[in-house]
Amino acid sequence: MNKISIIVPCYNEEESLSQFYLETKKSVSSISGVTYEFLFIDDGSKDHTLDILRLICHKDQNCRYFSFSRNFGKEAAMYAGLKHANGDFCVIMDADLQHPPKLLSDMYDAVSKEGYDCCAGKRIGREGDGVVRSFLSHGFYSVIQKLTHMNMSDGAGDFRMMNRTMADAILQMQEYNRYTKGIFSFVGFETKWIEFENVERAAGQTKWNLKSLFAYAFDGILSFSTAPLKLPGILGALLFFIACILGIWGLTGPLFFHQTADNVVFVLAVVILLSSLQMMMVFILGEYLSKDYLENKKRPIYIIRESN
Ligand code: UDP
Ligand code: MG
Repeated sequence: MNKISIIVPCYNEEESLSQFYLETKKSVSSISGVTYEFLFIDDGSKDHTLDILRLICHKDQNCRYFSFSRNFGKEAAMYAGLKHANGDFCVIMDADLQHPPKLLSDMYDAVSKEGYDCCAGKRIGREGDGVVRSFLSHGFYSVIQKLTHMNMSDGAGDFRMMNRTMADAILQMQEYNRYTKGIFSFVGFETKWIEFENVERAAGQTKWNLKSLFAYAFDGILSFSTAPLKLPGILGALLFFIACILGIWGLTGPLFFHQTADNVVFVLAVVILLSSLQMMMVFILGEYLSKDYLENKKRPIYIIRESN
């Protein structure tokens, strides 16, 4: 009999957790010929999430929880879940019911009968998300696709069921800066996509704001592309070319600048512009360096404070 491990990162999910557990348990129980386990990862919640998890796991032998010593982020929670899961198939689900449990049965069919290694949910429609977030999200995914040459499309999230081979491949990627969408794409494997309508979270608030989404997007690019490191070279070459033309023109052509106050301001603006470009390039270098610095420290990806 096959076993499905359901991995659930939870951060301040007291409002939706019980409903999630009941609905998902109902869906997974309806799949014939499988056993299941829930692995709830409490990512340092500040509300009563942990109390609810203790209660659920006390009543249900198929449930385990792991509570982090602080908030390590969803990426770390997913990694911890995969690491402790022992099912033949693993599925990652959000605790807010935005990943419809009724898809579990189709996902299981895809990975157990249709020969796929992975079956991933692809969210269509972004009704709950707002215009600005949807627009930025579309833009980001088209940029990251071009820069990384990997398949990371808008709507393709972490909701996916995978077989043991793929789960083990993901666990082999032990980087500290984890960008799981990129990791899924990097490891490859045959993936079937199932579309589902975007639903608003059952209760509670999203943990993302515009600033954290920007940081996440930037992290994604830095983790899977070195293309930004070429920018200083390209810009440097361009500026060198412009400087040569101006130099030749200055030496041979008619005198370009007369000493008026306007020209002094113009020259000052150019100097500030060039220096700001340099700063931006140093910033990009620094970002890669800081990622490498943190990677080299080999710190643990998460720390467990309590589990059952
Ligand atoms: N989550 C987590 N750690 C965090 C932030 C979020 O484990 O630091 C969990 C959260 O509890 C939920 C899932 O990750 O189960 C997705 O989070 P959220 O619903 O806030 O993201 P959104 O659906 O808005 O992208
Ligand atoms: Mg959500």
